[in-house]
Amino acid sequence: AVVPAAVAPAADPAATAAEPVCAGPLPVLGRDVTVPLVTGGEVSYAALDYAASAPALQRVWDDIAAYAPYYGSVHRGAGYLSQLSTDLFENSRTTVAEFLDCRPDDQVIFTRATTDSLNLLAGVLPADCEVFVFETEHHASLLPWQRHRVTYLDAPRTPARAVETLERALADREPYGPALVCVTAASNVTGELWPVRELAAAAHAHGARIVVDAAQFVPHLPFSVRDLDVDWVAFSGHKLYAPFGSGVLAGRADWLRAAEPYLAGGGASRAVARRPDGGVDVEWHTTAARHEAGSPNVIGAYAVAAACKALTEAGFDTLVARERLLIEKVRAGLAEVPEVTVLSLFGDDAPRVGVLSFVVEGWNSSHFAAALSAEYGIGVRDGLFCAHPLVRTLLGGDPGEAGECGAPEARPGERSLNAIRVSFGAGT
Ligand code: PLP
Repeated sequence: AVVPAAVAPAADPAATAAEPVCAGPLPVLGRDVTVPLVTGGEVSYAALDYAASAPALQRVWDDIAAYAPYYGSVHRGAGYLSQLSTDLFENSRTTVAEFLDCRPDDQVIFTRATTDSLNLLAGVLPADCEVFVFETEHHASLLPWQRHRVTYLDAPRTPARAVETLERALADREPYGPALVCVTAASNVTGELWPVRELAAAAHAHGARIVVDAAQFVPHLPFSVRDLDVDWVAFSGHKLYAPFGSGVLAGRADWLRAAEPYLAGGGASRAVARRPDGGVDVEWHTTAARHEAGSPNVIGAYAVAAACKALTEAGFDTLVARERLLIEKVRAGLAEVPEVTVLSLFGDDAPRVGVLSFVVEGWNSSHFAAALSAEYGIGVRDGLFCAHPLVRTLLGGDPGEAGECGAPEARPGERSLNAIRVSFGAGT
């Protein structure tokens, strides 16, 4: 057989039996990178910005390398390699559906990333759909809804208050048409977990649907569409230890089927014919392909599925237990520095994933982050983390202040205008 076993679609699940569980960090690319220090010499690089993009798992990279020599066009060829690629692409959908514990009728659409997924969903909402979103969201989940009537909800200071705020807003709405709630499962700023199950119940009790931005959740914790009873979920491959360029929108098929395709073109169309009046009739697919026009990113989809499998096989119990230790270690270290304030919306004891932001009194966060890199080889993020209203609120400012991505200066002794974020996970 020309196709290596790792790539060939497995008829027998036992043929792809789990590799031994990894007790330490999962091997990732870039672990052995050394970087020069301004103070002289070099040091092993510490990547602590997984929330922006996590390094690809070595296992995912190996799977891609095993497949790469064999790829062919998807859904378009009778040749053996085209058939193989089509199988792998469609099997990747199934793997992602299992990873997310989707309902049997849910669709899994491959996108470019979370931003793309949420913009896709925004494009399929019924015309009269109202959208409810907390001002604390990442811009990817805050901004795509602007074509609709959007109610921005104030930052809640407890999870219970989040549910109350949403319930009140939904109860007040008039008329009682279609509505969508969009909420992030784990904050990209504080790492705090949002009460997704309770928000979903509140949304459904008021006749609304809910989409969850799980970009920061799925790399850390198992997500169940069924158990949480959410309508859609979105995430990015590059935050889940796959390379850049692929993401997922999964969930209820009805609105997806009813809407015009996200992109018009080949792959999305089942039949196209000239009309006698000179126009063109199109019959669009009703499957996920409807919103995947053009040649799909089959390697990206395969990589996302490989990452889903790798995390599942490593076991979330093991990964969560390790991450808890890392979070405690980071928190204990930061607690020893009196100038440090850790940012939190729901309070210091709120459950969180391995994402944590802080400010250092007397320091501009950008200078501090630059010094961590230049003097210690530690890569963190500084700024407003594409969540300007939230970071402004957490820094004691006004969520209405204009924010810029380039971090503004704060003079020593003044309130910080930006923050530092450390984030880590299974590969740390
Ligand atoms: N949602 C959250 C919570 C995020 O943290 C991010 C990225 O930082 C996004 C959405 C956007 O993800 P992407 O840039 O992969 O589209």
